Amino acid sequence: MLKKLFQSFRSPLRRAAHKRSTPEVLNSNQHPLRRGEISRYALSVVDRLQQAGYQAYLVGGCVRDLLLNLEPKDFDVATSATPEQVRAEFRNARVIGRRFKLVHVHFGREIIEVATFRANHPQGDEDEDSNLSSRNESGRILRDNVYGSLEDDAQRRDFTINALYLDASCERILDYANGVHDIRNRLIRLIGDPEKRYQEDPVRMLRAVRFAAKLDFDIEKHSAAPIPHLARLLHEIPSARLFDEVLKLFLAGNAEHTFELLLEYNLFAPLFPAAAAALKRDPEYAGELIRLALASTDRRIEQGKTVTPAFLFAALLWPALPARVSELQDKGMPAIPAMQEAAHQLIAEQCQRIAIPKRFTIPIREIWDMQERLPRRQGKRADLLLENPRFRAGYDFLLLREDAGEDTGGLGDWWTDYQEVNDSQRRVMIRNLSQQEEANGAPRKRKRNPRKRRPAAGAPAGE
Ligand code: ATP
Ligand code: MG
Repeated sequence: MLKKLFQSFRSPLRRAAHKRSTPEVLNSNQHPLRRGEISRYALSVVDRLQQAGYQAYLVGGCVRDLLLNLEPKDFDVATSATPEQVRAEFRNARVIGRRFKLVHVHFGREIIEVATFRANHPQGDEDEDSNLSSRNESGRILRDNVYGSLEDDAQRRDFTINALYLDASCERILDYANGVHDIRNRLIRLIGDPEKRYQEDPVRMLRAVRFAAKLDFDIEKHSAAPIPHLARLLHEIPSARLFDEVLKLFLAGNAEHTFELLLEYNLFAPLFPAAAAALKRDPEYAGELIRLALASTDRRIEQGKTVTPAFLFAALLWPALPARVSELQDKGMPAIPAMQEAAHQLIAEQCQRIAIPKRFTIPIREIWDMQERLPRRQGKRADLLLENPRFRAGYDFLLLREDAGEDTGGLGDWWTDYQEVNDSQRRVMIRNLSQQEEANGAPRKRKRNPRKRRPAAGAPAGE
């Protein structure tokens, strides 16, 4: 498809300029996109807006991905209608966002995102408490609701490859920023002055890395250069927005490649400070554990299996745990409470940066708690663990630790066997454990009076 696009795109090749006031126009015989490839809901939104007298185009990732023969993740629409005017056209529409107001038009599970054309607002031009536009002292845009023309809108999109507008009849693609040129050269290039554009919105640094990994593109050198020294600006981004971005980074099927780029551009530490410190301390084990977890996430996504962010976060933060535990133990805390406290602290700190919701932090704790419980298999414990709903995640996590080089004394194999054998063989395995312990000199436990028995230690702790 790309070949066809570029064969038919005959305009003379010139140096990619960032800004054009008149677009390069690709007619239908110069590009391969056809209506049949586009979500019928997205088409219906564009058609409806046009019938109501507004301009409306498909824009962004959907045009880019279709040109690259990839399936678009979603369909975005840009229009001259204000959010209120868009909402008035659809029964199933909701205005969302404050920093960047837009409209979600719902069709069952599919959402078409409709954004009004935006204009750049020159720095210093806006008054502090304007509802439309504001920036903080480092130039970050706090509100971005100044509307403009199609030409204005093209200039304030992030990357050249994301500033392609397709009319719904698929007659024309409008290219204001030489995005087709950059698609051909497989380059992620910011529109405008890179440093300023990152300062306006530091999340663009994460987006650059995400698209580079997803599309297997390079980040153009002027767009790449400022990232390492501006990476710290991510500290200014609200933790809830970063949580959404981190999920996009790691759950799009290219997590391993994305991780390498995050490290290369100093973007990992502002997102995961404790994990970055652990990577520095023990690059071999921590690096291997994180890479294996990301690779297995990518594999599962490729196979169409479900993935849980909890497992991923558990892996990203696990290498940071031991140092925390020993710190607390040095202060006199016994091993198990130290482990619980370290886990609690680590997650609380991480949530300051990335607002991981409780529905994920609770399973992270449970996966970690399982790591303490899996070695304790005597009596009925092994069978109780097998029935625990978190057993599978805990067991997978144990295998991950072993694959990363941790010596658990063959615990993973033991659990693999235990799940495969029948009941009487299980009894033998448990008996053998006690004998091994005795052989290793462990004192034989006295039988406790069952009435005085306390609840089992190490029960999964909630947040
Ligand atoms: P995908 O949906 O595949 O993740 P996308 O490029 O469509 O990629 P979206 O987040 O859906 O990304 O955004 C749609 C479009 O909005 C982008 O293509 C880009 O033109 C514009 N955009 C999104 N975020 C920003 C930003 N932070 N700064 C400037 N423009 C942006
Ligand atoms: Mg999109």
